[in-house]
Amino acid sequence: MNTDALVARIHEFGETSAVVSLLTAECGCVRVMAKGAKRLKNSFLGPLDKGVLYRVRLGRRSGDGLVPLHSSRARETFSRLRSDPARFAAANVILEVASLLLRDNEPQPELFRLSVFSLKVIDRAPEPRLDTGVVLFLARAVGLSGHGPVLDACAACGELVGDGDDALLSPARGGLLHRACGRGEPASRPLSADGLSLLRHVSSVPAAEVLESSAPPRAAREVQGLLAGWLEYVLECRIRSLRPLRYGEVPHSRPAG
Ligand SMILES: [Zn+2]
Repeated sequence: MNTDALVARIHEFGETSAVVSLLTAECGCVRVMAKGAKRLKNSFLGPLDKGVLYRVRLGRRSGDGLVPLHSSRARETFSRLRSDPARFAAANVILEVASLLLRDNEPQPELFRLSVFSLKVIDRAPEPRLDTGVVLFLARAVGLSGHGPVLDACAACGELVGDGDDALLSPARGGLLHRACGRGEPASRPLSADGLSLLRHVSSVPAAEVLESSAPPRAAREVQGLLAGWLEYVLECRIRSLRPLRYGEVPHSRPAG
């Protein structure tokens, strides 16, 4: 079968081959065996690279669960990702989260398109907007996972949570809580007023509009950490590429008054 695919992970295998995790448009996340991938002359037109979009030809799955990769042709190299550590780190978040959400042999074309779009943003956006790009990806990915947070009413009392309210984000309750309603709620984390307004903005406004401005850096980092923590909770996993920003590790500044 032929499909578009992003390289998410590469493990060397023997002297000349590699086991590669591909995020594909047609069949979700697939682990492939690229025989001879590290030889200078191979049917992959050079070594495979992480974060590159390829057109690939896949064979039939073998007994060990791996799918043979017959050939590949780069469609978009996103070259700045590999020359700029900040862009590479942001791309790693996208590739890791997409790998966690894309299931084996199950097409999720919207999530695949979101991942390609987000890598394009991370490759091309001015540096101050990288964090906004990651927040946008995480917010959209959480929504596509079917576990998106409810962002208007408090999950405990049902009343509106206002933009300036002291709020908590609780994956266990599926969304926001007033600080007073969520006392003692396990796994809930404080959400600043700036963080809440950014989260609402990226969840409701078209992507192009979100990307026209840079989010306040502190709010962007806070929301990245909260959304990553949200995914870790609902997927019961760890997101290693966002480890320094893990849920609850972002210091919370209480709004004045
Ligand atoms: Zn409440």
